[in-house]
Amino acid sequence: MSSFLNPQYKELEVYTPGEQPQDMKYIKLNTNESPYPPSNGVLEAINSNQAELLRLYSDPECKALRKAIAQLYKVETDNIYLSNGSDDILNFAFMAYTGKNRPAVFPEISYGFYKVFAELYGTPYEAIPLRQDFSIDYKDYMGLNKFIVIANPNAPTGLCLSVKEVEEIVSSNPKSVVVIDEAYVDFGGESCYPLINKYNNLLVVQTFSKSRSMAGARLGFAIASKEIIEDLNRIKFSTNPYNVNRLTLVAGEMAIKDNDYYMENCQKIIDTREFTTKQLEALGFYVIPSKSNFVFAKSNKISGEELYNRLKAQGVLVRHFNTEKIKDFNRITIGTMDDMKTFISTVKKILEEI
Ligand code: PMP
Repeated sequence: MSSFLNPQYKELEVYTPGEQPQDMKYIKLNTNESPYPPSNGVLEAINSNQAELLRLYSDPECKALRKAIAQLYKVETDNIYLSNGSDDILNFAFMAYTGKNRPAVFPEISYGFYKVFAELYGTPYEAIPLRQDFSIDYKDYMGLNKFIVIANPNAPTGLCLSVKEVEEIVSSNPKSVVVIDEAYVDFGGESCYPLINKYNNLLVVQTFSKSRSMAGARLGFAIASKEIIEDLNRIKFSTNPYNVNRLTLVAGEMAIKDNDYYMENCQKIIDTREFTTKQLEALGFYVIPSKSNFVFAKSNKISGEELYNRLKAQGVLVRHFNTEKIKDFNRITIGTMDDMKTFISTVKKILEEI
């Protein structure tokens, strides 16, 4: 840290992303990427003609892709906002709606970035504990009239609130924005975006990083009332008007055209998740029933940390969080069926060794 840094940032506890090893090849089940490649349409669309056009700035309004997403989700183009990954929308939402006198609320065990954003903006926050079974009690979030952000399905648990429960939260907090982070919704959850037609305080955030195999392209989108989209644009046009690059816009449009391909992949991932869950249970694991592209599981024979380390030594990367309440667990991204068979046999081998 330099002595030049604004003191307000000196104490920040930054977000630690999952490992992205650049040295050896792992079976990578640690950052919830898709094991399937982008569609052929996407691969063909980002060609040398598009690369040549990189000399020109991208469309700051991202009109074509916003229109394509709006058509798929049956909302207006003005209800859509695009970003450089959905983290960017979460960041902008905290910037726009929270601050010293504008507290934030989120589940205690959830996506780790919420706390980081709150601290970045000097926002007081309340992290509400989950129930004993790791589920969220929607009643804890009713009538707070504070900025609320909830991942649904939640991460790293994979558990969901129903749309009805989300509606109770949104309708009982009319004076504040409620963000529903649906990064994992395509793996069996139910999106609450249709509620934007009824509630102007709901901000739904989704991403192309998981179900649409584009984590490296950095593309997220928001679905919300026109007023909220205007707020996000105010921040975008005050920071980085060309926040989505040309190649990503082209890839995104093609991914929307090839929606069926991605939804078939989601179904494969769901089937592989159910297989993985059963196999882990047969090995004595407790597995939280997941609606995401990962499972959160704990063994009755080996600690979370030791399993993580031993798997890594055998070339399988999973995610371990060294936080008291969840340190017995590992979060395991669902890969291809072959990946998961290797994962299961590696776990079996480890359990036999100890
Ligand atoms: N929300 C949740 C719950 C996540 O797990 C992630 C992935 N780390 C994100 C948002 C951000 O994803 P991205 O910026 O790649 O869209």
